[in-house]
Amino acid sequence: MYQKPKGTRDLFDKELRRLQAMNAAARDFFTRNGYEEIRTPSFEFAALFDRSIGTTTDIVEHEIYRFEVNKKTYALRPEGTASVLRAFIENKLTLPARFLYICSMYRRERPQKGRYREFQQIGIELLGENKPFFDAEIIDQGKRYLVLIGAKDFTIELNSIGCPDCRGKYREKLGSFLQNHMTDLCSDCKRRFERNFLRIFDCKKETCQRVYDEAPKITDNLCHECAEHYHKVKEYLNQFGIDYAENKKLVRGLDYYTRTVFEFKHGGLGAQDTIIAGGRYDLLMRELGGQDTPCTGWAMGPERLLLTMSEDLPVLDQKETFYIAGMGERYITKIVRLRDQIQGKGHRCLLGDPGEPIKIQVKRANKCNATYTVIYGEDEEKNGYYTVKNMQLGEQQKVLIQEFDAFLANVRGK
Ligand SMILES: [Zn+2]
Ligand SMILES: [Zn+2]
Repeated sequence: MYQKPKGTRDLFDKELRRLQAMNAAARDFFTRNGYEEIRTPSFEFAALFDRSIGTTTDIVEHEIYRFEVNKKTYALRPEGTASVLRAFIENKLTLPARFLYICSMYRRERPQKGRYREFQQIGIELLGENKPFFDAEIIDQGKRYLVLIGAKDFTIELNSIGCPDCRGKYREKLGSFLQNHMTDLCSDCKRRFERNFLRIFDCKKETCQRVYDEAPKITDNLCHECAEHYHKVKEYLNQFGIDYAENKKLVRGLDYYTRTVFEFKHGGLGAQDTIIAGGRYDLLMRELGGQDTPCTGWAMGPERLLLTMSEDLPVLDQKETFYIAGMGERYITKIVRLRDQIQGKGHRCLLGDPGEPIKIQVKRANKCNATYTVIYGEDEEKNGYYTVKNMQLGEQQKVLIQEFDAFLANVRGK
């Protein structure tokens, strides 16, 4: 017996359909909003992620799947942004650019509810716009998509982490504050402060958090330009009608963010409550060898989001399953055409073996979860109708052949 690796899963049936419904809705929605889908390789040269995500984050240190082939080091992609920017630069694409990606990511994290080692992400990136209006645009995109697919009870947290200029001065200020509190900090935080100081705010320990409650915040120490940018983002969000809460301790775990950072959270998820995370990253394109290009974007974890939602997504394909039971092999040509007609209206349709007794075909229809069985035999042929059996109600009706198209357009199984 073989088993799948820890932290992976097999997707099929309802769970897969729900994910696909979310993906389909994302393709449709974001395309209408000007975001074009992009597909990049599942693996890249590891150096790309080392450079972009930074060698001081947990992701690069512990969570990347690395492998070496012929003395070259590759990595399974742990996130989407670096690959999208690499592709943008390498293919000499033009600005401004809006991208959508929908794909698997890979991280060697401790598996838990809603978190897998191969997991799905839906993400958007907006390249080449530096104005705060566009920070508001991508937050608005996220909110409207969540509303579209029926997600409820999420909140949006917002912060600004400034630019290298304001961060440098702030680091000194924070450093001198922390000097008097070093004994209260955990060893992780002491280490983080040296290597990636903003990330201390991500610490889960209550003793550390009590110190950070009192600590000076980057949000209150922005340079003039960054403060103005942040102010405008909030103003636009208000005008878009988007509710948000400011969280001065929100810093995001990745090195490349500048200015705006945000998270969409869901209260029903416990500690892993983030469903969308993103922000502005104006320095990354240059870091990866491209031109100076302001960028914003976010990524969403549909699997975690699905945990918060009822079984039936509003965007789930609501079409019916038909099963055609022909009463005799001489009807094969007819029922094949009938199948095409039904599928042409977007419904699922399976064929029974018309050589088998009708009772057995109806039983099969049941096992295939058909909502309707269409019976076609001698009487139907003579009088120009189909017998349609509603499998849930057990009721039968006659539908005239010339009225069957209208029936298919309006049919609802329940
Ligand atoms: Zn600044
Ligand atoms: Zn800590």
